[in-house]
Amino acid sequence: MTRRLYWEDMYMRDFDGKVASVEGGRVVLDQTAFYPRGGGLVSDLGKLNGANVTEVIKENEEVFHVVDDPGLFKIGESVHGAIDWDRRHKVMKMHTTAHILCAIVNRETGALITGNQINPDESRIDFNLDQFDRDKLSDYVAAANGVVTRGVDVRTYFMKRMEALATPGLVKLANAVPPSVDELRIVQIGDVDTQADGGVHVGNTREIGEIVIDKAENKGKSNRRVYFSLR
Ligand SMILES: [Zn+2]
Repeated sequence: MTRRLYWEDMYMRDFDGKVASVEGGRVVLDQTAFYPRGGGLVSDLGKLNGANVTEVIKENEEVFHVVDDPGLFKIGESVHGAIDWDRRHKVMKMHTTAHILCAIVNRETGALITGNQINPDESRIDFNLDQFDRDKLSDYVAAANGVVTRGVDVRTYFMKRMEALATPGLVKLANAVPPSVDELRIVQIGDVDTQADGGVHVGNTREIGEIVIDKAENKGKSNRRVYFSLR
């Protein structure tokens, strides 16, 4: 399995690795800082030696780098990877924001999250809710911005699967965790939110800036979709 450098250091912008396999246009490395698409987050883009990385995907816990020039890669050779940091840092800020918003809306309304899409420039969250009071929504965003300005540290650590599953509220999607995974990565945003999560986050909420709600709309009977951006 590819060593996930993005779990060890979410601020790693470039790294060295070795080619483990090349299949079609897809390169597997012994280790990578490229985050593969998943958990509602877009994948990292960037460079692997002289090739452009156009997508990074995860299959059976393996990480595949889709490159535009696979002929440049031979098994066992060294590669240097550089991720598009501007895009990645935006995704980190957006993702931590989504956790904060979800935690506050869940605390205030009991609503569950039915979907999310985290992009660099505008993201969205779907809540399982019958109604979304506009004034209340403004209150939730104000509370989320309070967490941002408070400068809350984000901590990540690993926990045994059984222990994580036995801790109430930690694993939001129990059936989404394959039994083969023995340890779960936990992301803790201070006293705001703690959950099992594989994605990339900022180290401190202050990096987020300001959360702005762009739009809130109804998507089906009990589904409310909120679009947000940062500035
Ligand atoms: Zn997440």
